[in-house]
Amino acid sequence: MSRTPEATVLRPPATLAVIGGGQLGRMFVQAAQRLGYRAIVLSETEDGPAAQVAHDAIVSPPDHLPGLLALADAAEGITVEFENVSAPALRWLARRRLVRPGWRTVWVSQNRLREKSFLARHGLPLARWCPVLSAGDLADAPGRVGLPLILKTAASGYDGKGQVRVDRADDLATAWASLRRVACVAEGWVSFAAEVSVVAVRGADATALAFPVALNRHERHILDATLMPAPVGPIVAQEARGLALAVAEALGTVGVLTVEFFLTAEGELTINELAPRPHNSGHLTIEAGVSSQFEAQVRALCGLPLGGTDLVTPAAMVNLLGDLWSGGEPDWGRALAADPGVKLHLYGKGDAAPGRKMGHLTVLDPNPSHALARALEARARLVRRP
Ligand code: AMP
Repeated sequence: MSRTPEATVLRPPATLAVIGGGQLGRMFVQAAQRLGYRAIVLSETEDGPAAQVAHDAIVSPPDHLPGLLALADAAEGITVEFENVSAPALRWLARRRLVRPGWRTVWVSQNRLREKSFLARHGLPLARWCPVLSAGDLADAPGRVGLPLILKTAASGYDGKGQVRVDRADDLATAWASLRRVACVAEGWVSFAAEVSVVAVRGADATALAFPVALNRHERHILDATLMPAPVGPIVAQEARGLALAVAEALGTVGVLTVEFFLTAEGELTINELAPRPHNSGHLTIEAGVSSQFEAQVRALCGLPLGGTDLVTPAAMVNLLGDLWSGGEPDWGRALAADPGVKLHLYGKGDAAPGRKMGHLTVLDPNPSHALARALEARARLVRRP
């Protein structure tokens, strides 16, 4: 097998693959199939959300050589649905097939130390932070970033996992011990007024586009609701989109890249974290966008023109977490009958554990706050009354 040149265009019905079998992989597969591609998945489970809808599934951990060999044999273009894919695995694949985003984007965004160092080197705005690799670093942290601070593991943290807030210097040692004293970053506490995100897409020819800014509300550190476009005013919106494009450019990303920000009451943006892929806050682009974030991922991977990133109409999305199943199967009929405009997405997951993302609801409405109110109301109707 020879290396695929960067200028290659993969046309339908080429076979595309996604590494990772969750809901983001599922929505990538669905977008690829709609454009006429065959889509396969490298998944740890035979019956995960993406494997259920793909033309084929290779069941393997994401960095096992036999699985990667099978993937390179079967697919002409390969992308990822999560950031914890090993860089050597992606480099190995990229010698054989088109792999987008490339290993460097994934490698930088899978580790908070590398991510923050990279962004700082490129002059991109961050909250105060410092590395914590030793007891000495830990003791210095309050002086460098202030208190309260958040201690975050450098690797494999998501949805608030692997992080602890520390209010007093006396609590630092216990907090680090609770994270097993692994490599961390200490981050100064940001009194943000809002959390926003921007999904950007960049093509192999360096053309880049940003979706409108999303306003995100979290519950228990997990995304709960998103509204787009965020009511942040044109200057902040332009700055956030500009920063997302600047990050994609600095990383040389080909593919979709999401940037999450904190926004202060004074209108100041700092970058919280990066994801080298579509994002939960962009799910509403499936119905509200000229093209969706998943179609953007397909187009960038295949070397097609990127498509539009404008919204056809404002929209809101609310997540459906496993907690909703605590009283039995949610009452789909009642929620959907009350508002015919509610769009239901379920990811085909069997085990509705608390905090697990099972699906989402999207509502389109010319007024984004109305869209959010309708989505929240629909979700409330899902809960079965005893
Ligand atoms: P993360 O996994 O880094 O996105 O953090 C999860 C959530 O914790 C964020 O969405 C924020 O709500 C909160 N958080 C993280 N870092 C900070 C910070 N430096 N200051 C205040 N809140 C934070």
